Amino acid sequence: MIEFKNVTKTYPDGTTALRGVTFSVEEGELLTVVGPSGCGKTTTMKMINRLIKPTEGSIFIHNKNIKEFNIHELRWNIGYVLQQIALFPHMTIEENIAIVPELKKWKKKDISSRIDELMNMVGLEPETYRKRKPDELSGGQQQRIGVIRALAADPDIILMDEPFSALDPISREKLQQDIRELQRKIKKTIVFVTHDMDEALALGDRVCLMKEGEIVQVDTPQNMVLEP
Ligand code: ADP
Ligand code: ADP
Repeated sequence: MIEFKNVTKTYPDGTTALRGVTFSVEEGELLTVVGPSGCGKTTTMKMINRLIKPTEGSIFIHNKNIKEFNIHELRWNIGYVLQQIALFPHMTIEENIAIVPELKKWKKKDISSRIDELMNMVGLEPETYRKRKPDELSGGQQQRIGVIRALAADPDIILMDEPFSALDPISREKLQQDIRELQRKIKKTIVFVTHDMDEALALGDRVCLMKEGEIVQVDTPQNMVLEP
């Protein structure tokens, strides 16, 4: 589904963030990418939706080099959940969720029922919350909206970059369960970045361990060989 072949990224200031990285994500798989701050996780994610380009090597989605995709086609089919909650503050919850479906010119009534469906899926009563602004929701609720917004237009791939890092441990645990359930229901390909090994092991079908711009191991949580 997603394939990195020998990808190296050197930023203009000379920092090499990735060194010949090769890995793949299977269709319908939840891959967690884990490693210390600065090891190249976010760089990897940004390259998947072409926010940045590899210096060397290639990336494929469905066996097609991502260079060859129309940029909108590519981005609309990739839901991106960011670390900082990135809801637009001046827009209501329903307007926030509707952004990509509207760009894709979905019918109004289809967008509306999609919003209901998604909000119910993560336990946020649409009647109560649809018309609110983001700052009228708790941090955990906003993060949940961030997750379903990324799913709204039914993308093939979902990228999540430390989506729970700003949350208290209880909201975090609840959201981890949500993601696992979601994965079971929607069977999407998900790449989930975290610096927390426990989270990576608990969530991933497979875990990709990175260090200093290289992949150290990719395996099932059971088979990971962890340093003490
Ligand atoms: P992680 O997500 O694992 O914390 P990043 O991918 O953000 O790691 O960063 C990897 C390395 O690349 C780090 O050394 C970081 O400082 C560097 N880096 C990230 N973005 C840039 C940039 N725009 N310019 C220069 N160096 C960068
Ligand atoms: P650029 O200004 O580099 O062309 P965009 O305007 O496409 O980038 O994206 C702006 C922000 O929205 C970025 O931070 C990106 O991570 C995020 N983003 C891009 N595509 C999506 C998407 N399909 N779903 C959610 N967020 C996205």
